[in-house]
Amino acid sequence: MSANSNVPPPLDRFSQPDAGGHFGPYGGVFVPETLMTALKELGEAYDMARKDPAFVNELRRHLKEFAGRPTPLYFAERLTQLGGGAKIYLKREDLLHTGAHKINNALAQALLAKRMGKKRIIAETGAGQHGVATAAACAKFGLECVVYMGAHDMERQALNVFRMRLMGAEVRGVEAGQKTLKEAINEAMRDWVTNVRATHYILGTAYGSHPYPMMVRDFHRVIGIEAKEQILAREGRLPDELIACVGGGSNAIGLFFEFLEDPGVKMIGVEAGGHGIKRGEHAARFAGGRLGVLQGCKTFLLQDADGQIELTHSVSAGLDYAAVGPEHAFYRDRGRIQFAYATDDEVLETFQLCSRLEGIIPALESTHALVEGLKRAKTLSKDKVIIVNLSGRGDKDVQQVQAMLGKK
Ligand SMILES: *Cc1c(COP(=O)(O)O)cnc(C)c1O
Repeated sequence: MSANSNVPPPLDRFSQPDAGGHFGPYGGVFVPETLMTALKELGEAYDMARKDPAFVNELRRHLKEFAGRPTPLYFAERLTQLGGGAKIYLKREDLLHTGAHKINNALAQALLAKRMGKKRIIAETGAGQHGVATAAACAKFGLECVVYMGAHDMERQALNVFRMRLMGAEVRGVEAGQKTLKEAINEAMRDWVTNVRATHYILGTAYGSHPYPMMVRDFHRVIGIEAKEQILAREGRLPDELIACVGGGSNAIGLFFEFLEDPGVKMIGVEAGGHGIKRGEHAARFAGGRLGVLQGCKTFLLQDADGQIELTHSVSAGLDYAAVGPEHAFYRDRGRIQFAYATDDEVLETFQLCSRLEGIIPALESTHALVEGLKRAKTLSKDKVIIVNLSGRGDKDVQQVQAMLGKK
């Protein structure tokens, strides 16, 4: 690794959002008046920080010493053998502190909040991975931390609730609606409106109002920067395909961004196919969604004829959201990123396969990307190279999988 491999290069190389945060027809700012100023302040603070070597160097140090970067690029020899085609490499974000890529963004935003003089942090969380990463970053920097979580999710993910509390975060249960992620985001927004002066909202994916989709993407670009260096060192050439799962889209855009201008590199985002593409049974926004506005952002979302948000389902909580990050919608229109989905059943099978063949238990989210990676590897010749982003580890999922397998 070169000394500078964690430093994001200048941001004006490929298409950036316009001043209003639009990626083509997607993105933008849709928030109450009181938050307009806060978002503008945040955008300006981020713009200053990313150009400031002191900020960049401090962040790089924490990513290395606290989070464990760089993560390895691992040749999955036995999965490759099983596929019988393209070589499969795994980018091991699962080895990061707190177990997933989310710490890249949580650390960076916590550092930015400190720089802005904000002493109180709020966050939303679904399964709890972003909440745990945020709690860890706040503990490290001595920031007050409040995490909003749907009451139903708190029951399902009791261990993550305990982890957050151990690290000093206050976890507030949300009883509204389905009591899951969407309601938790609403509550976090409400808190932010009320306490905006002293509070920074650490949003957990490449979603929401500008500057979040751009900023969160930038904080994950280190994944692709490292992967590019690593594959060049290992194979002496660029990969043929990159594959990542897409919830809001942060781990995927983090891997993809550095390769957007390399025309020979294909990119595939994998959504949650759940029980199949039937209303309420999946979270594949590009398979069943259309343009709309949800929680601050214009993008593809799952909605009924009246624009009401549809129920979603996925075996993996981290992909179970009705809308997708605006930048993904933009690159899909341009044909730069293609999308596929994996069903719960496929995921359950590949979860076991990867554990057994590689000795790596992948997160259920990341397993969606593995399903597609194996499918594609089989169709490609042995001289081709695929990188699958292993966004997180599956320790958090083993109880759930054990229960599901017991039922089968
Ligand atoms: C949260 C999460 C995801 C989904 O979020 P993105 O923003 O789409 O990356 C994927 N994998 C893991 C392990 C997660 O924790």
